[in-house]
Amino acid sequence: MGVIGLIYIINNKRSKINNLAYFLLTHIIKNAKIPLDVSILRWGVKKMRKIIDSHLHISKWGDEDFISCFDEYCKEQSIHALNICAIPSRQSNVCNNIIMGFYKLARPKNYIHGGIELINIPIDNMPKDMDAVTQYRELMEIGFDGIKMLEGKPTEHKRIGKDLNHPSLNALYKEIEKDGTHLIMHVNDPDEFWDLKRAPDWAIKAGWTYTDGTYSSYEDIHNQTLKVLEDYPNISVTIAHFFFCGKEPEILERLFKLYPNFCVDLTPGGEMYVEFQKNYDYYKEFFNKYSDRLIFGTDSAYLGDNKYEKWLFNVVTTFIGTDKPVSSFDDKILCGLGMSQEKVDNIFYANFERRVGKEPKKIDKEKFRAYIEKYSFALTDEDKKRIEPLIKKYL
Ligand SMILES: [Zn+2]
Repeated sequence: MGVIGLIYIINNKRSKINNLAYFLLTHIIKNAKIPLDVSILRWGVKKMRKIIDSHLHISKWGDEDFISCFDEYCKEQSIHALNICAIPSRQSNVCNNIIMGFYKLARPKNYIHGGIELINIPIDNMPKDMDAVTQYRELMEIGFDGIKMLEGKPTEHKRIGKDLNHPSLNALYKEIEKDGTHLIMHVNDPDEFWDLKRAPDWAIKAGWTYTDGTYSSYEDIHNQTLKVLEDYPNISVTIAHFFFCGKEPEILERLFKLYPNFCVDLTPGGEMYVEFQKNYDYYKEFFNKYSDRLIFGTDSAYLGDNKYEKWLFNVVTTFIGTDKPVSSFDDKILCGLGMSQEKVDNIFYANFERRVGKEPKKIDKEKFRAYIEKYSFALTDEDKKRIEPLIKKYL
């Protein structure tokens, strides 16, 4: 059947035996000087790698078909599964949750983390049959795999009008902790966003600078999050973007020791990759020591030409999964960590699977339909128009 046929077979099922077979095969090819196109070997390595992208968004409807955009991403990068996270910044959480539900109906091997709709603001003013806990229960019954909170991002934090450890949110953390549900929290932004002299131009343009006195401080939001962890020490929480602790990783080391289910994801924030490069030796040890607390994700939305997203994917996967150099976010060379396969696997998919499940939950169509009806008041006419054909096709 030939060498290529053998590579094809062992790539189709990934296991330790297949890994060994692949290793031996490449060894034989090299030593016997069999003339084989190197790109096939590279293709083999790519296919062997298992990756779950734990942090993606459907950020807007756009004119493009978000399902085929994600299909293309999975195919191109050989991604095992995606986890789509709620993002209420361009549309209501309700609308975003509904799109995610349809995505899962169309592509059931993927995961979704839903968001709580802020029906009334401040958040303590939510109606009883639509408070945070009720909405959480509904999402879990529909078949969401976890919850995503953006309420710790300074813009959203300002909008909720209350602290992250306000009683109405505490009731939610309590349920999430009790159920062992996975929670992804975006907390804060890079500290330079509170200082116009240090804030990057793109952040200023995006309206993500917090110097006009109407936003909580970096320290306040950070400390409110620490209080949540203190009050719910067993909560299964992943804080996005390294908790913006690239300059103070000792904070993470302390939290890893205190809280057994506390993780951070590695979605850029390019600034943290700059820190990884600056303190390479420290971080090499850090990644090896805490590979069971770090989770791979890209925070991408995959619409448009995806040039930046592809570049970003390459930087992050080269850094985590190889010992090769790659040009990083500050145009300087970031060297791959050269970790063992087991540690790379932890970060690429195993930590996520341990926390969320090896198989995504199934969508309960009845419950999903009831949710769409109950919360349709939170949809714009344009949203409704776009959802209509999806209802006909999938429900
Ligand atoms: Zn995100």
